[in-house]
Amino acid sequence: MFIDSARIHIKAGRGGDGAIAFHREKYLPSGGPDGGDGGRGGNIVFVADDNLATLMDFRYKKKYAAENGQNGAGKRCSGKKGQDLVIRVPRGTLIRSAENGYIIKDLSDDTPFIAAKGGKGGWGNQHFATPTRQTPRFAKAGLPGEEFDIRLELKLLADVGLVGFPNVGKSTLLSMISAARPKIANYHFTTLVPNLGVVYMGEGSSFVAADIPGIIEGASEGAGLGFEFLRHIDRCRLLLHVIDVSGSEGRNPAEDFEKVMLELRNYSTLATRPQIVVANKSDIGSDGLEELQKLCEEHGFPIYPISAATGEGVKELMGATWELLRTLPPVTVYEPEEIPAEPLPDPTERAFTIKRNDHGDYIVEGAWLEHLVNSTNFGDYESLTHMQTILRKAGVFDALEERGVEEGDIVAIYDLEFEYIK
Ligand code: GDP
Ligand code: MG
Repeated sequence: MFIDSARIHIKAGRGGDGAIAFHREKYLPSGGPDGGDGGRGGNIVFVADDNLATLMDFRYKKKYAAENGQNGAGKRCSGKKGQDLVIRVPRGTLIRSAENGYIIKDLSDDTPFIAAKGGKGGWGNQHFATPTRQTPRFAKAGLPGEEFDIRLELKLLADVGLVGFPNVGKSTLLSMISAARPKIANYHFTTLVPNLGVVYMGEGSSFVAADIPGIIEGASEGAGLGFEFLRHIDRCRLLLHVIDVSGSEGRNPAEDFEKVMLELRNYSTLATRPQIVVANKSDIGSDGLEELQKLCEEHGFPIYPISAATGEGVKELMGATWELLRTLPPVTVYEPEEIPAEPLPDPTERAFTIKRNDHGDYIVEGAWLEHLVNSTNFGDYESLTHMQTILRKAGVFDALEERGVEEGDIVAIYDLEFEYIK
């Protein structure tokens, strides 16, 4: 089995900050608070796309960020939401946590999957007016979006199969056109292994080509072919039929063509596939080219003279291959495989831990605490008081006392560091 994989970083948008503003009208000097809320940050969303076949794009681009939400404004104006970033991946792509390898999602159906949520927008001061606090001079900052590394994984099957007699140049062509060699993971059969390469045509355009060995060597009788191998052949939507036209090895191109066609017919699945005929080794001769061209015309197959060794004509051939491939529907429908349930650990709400570092400082940690600190405006007395209330209610101060915190000790909660006062 061939696995394509890529590690990328995804970052959802930050929520916009809430606004601090006061209603103003002529002759009415001290209106109520009317600061609007920040817009929420955009999500990172994954969608399965049947037109994609590999994870090539993710080798070139590794960082994905959704738009931030906009800040709120006066007159209760809410900030605009950040736009979601939609990432398209081939159907059947697995999203794994880069940290522990857990499967977060198998993208085999059509439901869009939110992998990282955008941060909430901060509330504007319009929300903080209470009977005792009529002029709230603080608003909440927007929260950061979720951000982490993931690994994408995809089992590759060939879209394009290279067929032809031995020594006509299939392997040479494959090494010339493929930008990447996928890793082989425990291939289950011994005798014949297709050689796979990923052909990269540009962003969003790549396909898998396989040099299918042995197809002419009695392979249609099934000698030594494993299930995985057959799957590669079955999935091929298009064949590149490679023929040596140089005459260098005493081959007759037209005869070779007919023999391979006959062999393909024995593979009922392959004979019906569209073909492009590759007239290879044209750098050292093209004796039989004309006759072959006539045959191709009869069959309605396009033919491209190339040299896999020098690269001559290969670009044109790949262009034509891609253009044709794009018009061909997938041969087999993707079947999702059972994946074992490996739930991600769910952080208990408002849980925190207290550690002490080498200096004896108290380090308080917990996911929600990071959010709390991030959304607090430290320059603002009321905002600080607000945060203190939440810390007290969650039992942070009690826990610090239990651990023996003394007056003047340093307590650190993410970006916030303060001296403890009893
Ligand atoms: P395969 O058995 O079909 O995979 O053929 P290979 O790719 O192994 O090629 C067989 C031999 O032909 C090798 O020695 C290659 O270097 C040579 N060869 C392949 N393509 C060309 C070509 O376009 N021109 C020339 N001159 N030699 C080639
Ligand atoms: Mg070979």
